[in-house]
Amino acid sequence: MKVIQYCLMMLGVVFSNLLLAHVGEHPNESDVIYTIKAKKVDGHFLMERDGKVFIQQKDGKVVSSALQDFSFETQIPLSQKIAYLKQINNQNNSLKNKSVKEEKPNYQYLYLIMILLFLVLLTSKKSVEGVFLLGSVLVFFYACKTTNVEPVTNATPVLAKTDPSFVEKVFAPYKSEVKTRYDDTYFYVETEGIPQTHNMMIGITSWQQQVPIPQGYVGTNAWSIPLKPEFSTSPLSLKSNFMKGAVAIAPNGIPIFNPLNNRGEDAFVIGELDQWGGHCGRADDYHYHIAPLHFETTAGNNPIAMALDGFAIYGSKEPDGTATKTLDEYHGHNYNNTYHYHAETKYPYFMAAMRGKVSLDPTTPAPENQILPQAKSAGVRPALTALKGASITNFKSTGSNAYSLEYTVDGKKAFVNYTWDNTNVYTFTFVGIDGVSTTTKYVKK
Ligand SMILES: [Zn+2]
Ligand SMILES: [Zn+2]
Repeated sequence: MKVIQYCLMMLGVVFSNLLLAHVGEHPNESDVIYTIKAKKVDGHFLMERDGKVFIQQKDGKVVSSALQDFSFETQIPLSQKIAYLKQINNQNNSLKNKSVKEEKPNYQYLYLIMILLFLVLLTSKKSVEGVFLLGSVLVFFYACKTTNVEPVTNATPVLAKTDPSFVEKVFAPYKSEVKTRYDDTYFYVETEGIPQTHNMMIGITSWQQQVPIPQGYVGTNAWSIPLKPEFSTSPLSLKSNFMKGAVAIAPNGIPIFNPLNNRGEDAFVIGELDQWGGHCGRADDYHYHIAPLHFETTAGNNPIAMALDGFAIYGSKEPDGTATKTLDEYHGHNYNNTYHYHAETKYPYFMAAMRGKVSLDPTTPAPENQILPQAKSAGVRPALTALKGASITNFKSTGSNAYSLEYTVDGKKAFVNYTWDNTNVYTFTFVGIDGVSTTTKYVKK
C-alpha cells in the first residue's frame, strides 16, 4: 500500500509544479465611459480581435467596434492597451515555446527515473521507503526546472546603414517623374508633386475645393530620407503625432501623410480621398493619406514607400516574396539587420508609430508636430472650405499644364478648369451648377 501512497505523492509534486508554472496575471480594468459613433458606452476594455475592440458593459453585455469608431481621446489609451496586451501575449507565446522545448527531455528523464525506481523496488524490497523518498526529491527538482524559464528579451539588432541602391530601386519604376540623389546622410527625392501614371481626385465625396498644382519639391526643397536609421527608444504613435506634413514618400515622389486628422478622423473613412488614396491640401498639394498599395503592381518585391525615419514600407509580402510575417505593435518587424513596416488596406494602413528616430519641428507641438527635414508645399491661392454635397466625378488633362475637374452637387454638374504658364500665372475658371462661370488669375511667388 505504501507504494501507491508514494506514487500519489510523486504525482502530486509534479502536478503542483506544472500548475504553478501557468498561473498568470491579468491587468485590472476599471469602467470608463466610451463614445462609440457618438453613442455613450459605460464599460471596460475586454479585448481586441480582427481589428475590433470589445467593450464589456456594466450589465455584462459586450459591444464591439473598430478602433476608429471610438472618440479620439479614448483611441489613444485603447491602442496603448492593445499594444500592451500584444506585447504580453508575444512574451507568453515565447515563454510557452521555450518551456515546451524544455519539458520534453524532462519527461523522458522522469519516465526513466520511474522505471529505474520500479526495477530497484522489484530487486530490493527492504529499501522501498528510501528509494521512493529519493525518487520524490529527484522528480521535484526536475519539475521545478521546467518552471524556471528565463525571461525573453527582444534582442535589438545592430542596424545596418541603408544601401542607397536599395532606395534607388523603390523609385526606379517612376524615373521619368522622379529624380534621385544621395549623400552620406540622406537619400533625396525630387518631384513636381503631380502623379503622371495614375489619375487623381475622382471618388472624393468630402472635398475642400482644392486641386492639384505643381509643388516644386526639387533642389533644396527635395524630400529627404535618412540613410542611417536608428531605433527610437520611445516610438511616437501616429495617433497623437505627425498630423502635419509627410510621414513617408511613395515611389512616384508623392508624399504620404498621416491617415488621421487632428480630430482623429480617418481621411479615407470620411470620404476625403480619391480612388488612389490621395487628395489635395490647402496649398493645392496632392498627397496620399493611406498606403498607396496600387504601387505593388510596379514594385515587385521592393518596398511600396519609404518612411521618413528611414525604414522601408512593404506591401503584403516580405522582400523574398513570401507572405508577411508577424508584425509588432508598430506594424513592422526586424529583418536582416534592419527593420521595415508593412502596409495594408485598413487602419493603421502602414506604421502605427515611428519605430525610427525622427527630428521634430520645434515650432509645431503634437499632435500637429512634423518631421524634419520636410519639403515645403507652395500654394497660389487662399485655401478654400469644404463644399457640402459635392462629389468629384471626373478629372482630366485638357492640354499642356491644363486640367478640368468635374463635380456634382444634387445631381448637377459643375467644373473647375485651370491652367498655368511658364511665368507662374495660374488661371482658374469656376463653372457653378447654375452654369455661371467666373475666372480668377493668381501669380505664384
Ligand atoms: Zn491631406
Ligand atoms: Zn516584413
